[in-house]
Amino acid sequence: MKIICVGRNYASHAQELGNEVPKEPALFLKPETALIAKRQPFFIPDFSNDIHYEAEVVIKINRLGKNIQAKFASKYYDKVALGIDFTARDLQKKLKEKGLPWEKSKAFDGSAAVGRFVDVKHFVDIQNVRFSLAVNKEVKQNGKTSEMVFSINQLIEYISTFFTLKIGDLIFTGTPAGVGSVTKNDFLELYLEDDLNLSLTVK
Ligand code: ZN
Repeated sequence: MKIICVGRNYASHAQELGNEVPKEPALFLKPETALIAKRQPFFIPDFSNDIHYEAEVVIKINRLGKNIQAKFASKYYDKVALGIDFTARDLQKKLKEKGLPWEKSKAFDGSAAVGRFVDVKHFVDIQNVRFSLAVNKEVKQNGKTSEMVFSINQLIEYISTFFTLKIGDLIFTGTPAGVGSVTKNDFLELYLEDDLNLSLTVK
């Protein structure tokens, strides 16, 4: 199982970090060991003093596929959840400056939290769903999947030209504006439409 993540897929977030809105999706991977086990906290790693939360819509692949056309992509996933792409922003900044891969800042142990998977059928249009992240009950990020630069189906087409998608693979589809740092004992809650989908504590 692998986790494929999309960077800068919301114009508002690309702008807040001073990045251009990309002409094609920016991809990176997280290994299986990045996943936080159910009901476990997020532990701030020793190598960073600036861990950011990034709330994202996560889809779960349910069919093996390669070179999937966007028009068929909806057949390749049937479940959706919210997740957090935890990012060591200080380390990422250094790596970016040196033109090095982002992995150490993005794919470290415990850098991926995923909530409860819901049937895609539950939504009239998965490309028109609201989600939000609150830190200590204060809303910090509000997203709408309609604001993605590249739709989920476009992402699947693009990703599957490089990486064969396998059953159980997860795609983190990018974060909207409002990312920020976590501190010890923060309590994070993610809402998909009006339903609590994921909550976890920072340790
Ligand atoms: Zn992200």
